[in-house]
Amino acid sequence: MSLLLAEMTWPEVERAIAAGITTVILPLGATEQHGPHLPLGTDTVRAAFLAGQLGADRSDVLVAPALPLGCSDEHTGFPGLLSLDHETLARLITDCGQRMAAWGIRCLVLLSAHGGNARALERARTRLQEQVSALEVRVLASSTALNEELSEIAATDGIAPDDVGLHAGEGETSEMLHLRPDLVHMDRAVAGYTGSMADVIPRLREAGLRAVTDTGTLGDPRLACATRGRRYLAAQIEGYGQLLAIGTATPVREAVP
Ligand SMILES: [Zn+2]
Repeated sequence: MSLLLAEMTWPEVERAIAAGITTVILPLGATEQHGPHLPLGTDTVRAAFLAGQLGADRSDVLVAPALPLGCSDEHTGFPGLLSLDHETLARLITDCGQRMAAWGIRCLVLLSAHGGNARALERARTRLQEQVSALEVRVLASSTALNEELSEIAATDGIAPDDVGLHAGEGETSEMLHLRPDLVHMDRAVAGYTGSMADVIPRLREAGLRAVTDTGTLGDPRLACATRGRRYLAAQIEGYGQLLAIGTATPVREAVP
């Protein structure tokens, strides 16, 4: 069972710290369009789940509530967007890290399910390490090895990488079918941009998703399936769990959604 900070009392937290539980995982999501078939809170649902499962697999971490707002300006032009400047998110994380250090936390693990948060995470990590020497800050972000593993799962099932997609495609839709099928509208799912994801990244960075896809989808969500979503999520939990165990932080890279 995870030690969920928002569901604990302060004496329980005090006892956890006294027992040597001094690591907090802070999940970071976003509120941004995810095509006509997935909810705006998709990344927050995924972040909270991944952090909760990592916490459940180990008894030595506390799990903070997921932050539902991230840096999502690449989704400008789609209704429903709630986005922060990189500096705002960096300051928010820095503020929380300082407070955590004051009540005994010694390691803050940032787990983001939204690629656009990467720059803010890096800024917060650098700042906290300068300001709060007692606090180690680690960033769990997707790595090449993890991406290869996810591609392998897709390939085994005959799903092409460009259909898995970078945003609201087969990948995220499969995960949401496993996590919150009640919020997935498969009858509204349509193929989005399904050309080369590698080729489209510079355009996305420059002009945002609206310039590339009318529906907001990159990939083909119609191919999604809940069982594969469970396997994608299990691979991420396994990969992040290993990083946590060996104490290696993934180098942060700029990613798209
Ligand atoms: Zn997403």
